[in-house]
Amino acid sequence: MKYVRDTTGRFQQRPHYEPAELDRECETIITGFLKDLYGKVEYPVVTDDLTKLIERDAQDLDLYADLSHYGADVEGVTEFQPNHKPRVSISKELMENDRRANRLRTTMTHEYGHVKFHAYLWDVEPPSPDLLRRVPNGNKIICKRETMIDAAQTDWMEWQAGYICGAILMPKTSVVRICREYAEAHGLYGAVSLQTTHGHALMAQVVSTFAVSDDAARVRLLKLNPRPAPPTG
Ligand SMILES: [Zn+2]
Repeated sequence: MKYVRDTTGRFQQRPHYEPAELDRECETIITGFLKDLYGKVEYPVVTDDLTKLIERDAQDLDLYADLSHYGADVEGVTEFQPNHKPRVSISKELMENDRRANRLRTTMTHEYGHVKFHAYLWDVEPPSPDLLRRVPNGNKIICKRETMIDAAQTDWMEWQAGYICGAILMPKTSVVRICREYAEAHGLYGAVSLQTTHGHALMAQVVSTFAVSDDAARVRLLKLNPRPAPPTG
């Protein structure tokens, strides 16, 4: 990680991560957490454990928040408080609808990304009372559905939280192993294109292994773009 100028104007400096760094850190976080809980690591990370993970590092987690006043497409909000742990709110729409179970998991993990990787920035550069008067939500990250998994790199905080979300729910080592085993089992050489029948089957395997949405699996596979080793022997 290195510091670069924050062109969004929110902070003087902001952290820049290479994807490989986030993959490493996130895998360390989730495997360490699961080992502490169970003495072993198994996927999918169950939703209750995502709750425990957030509660460990945040001051408060509200899974039944009414976020409608932020806009119809807002599904998660993290509020930062200098020298205190952040507060996380998740839209009750996700909790109350079983068909949105995967989106709930995605949103919780995305907000956790803000908690774990961004809270310290507010300690370093707390918003001034003047800024909070002008921008009343200046101490919050308000996250919309469409940037939960993937955002433009210019929106660095959302991009990082989206990447972290994928890297915690679908740790790189396991995804790469699934891709390699799939390719070996089917005699494929090189990266599996997601447009093909094999690509769809691979994506389905990632969806069921990690209990994520099709979209989350597709974005993660595209980002990792693992190139299986050529068959040996
Ligand atoms: Zn966000």
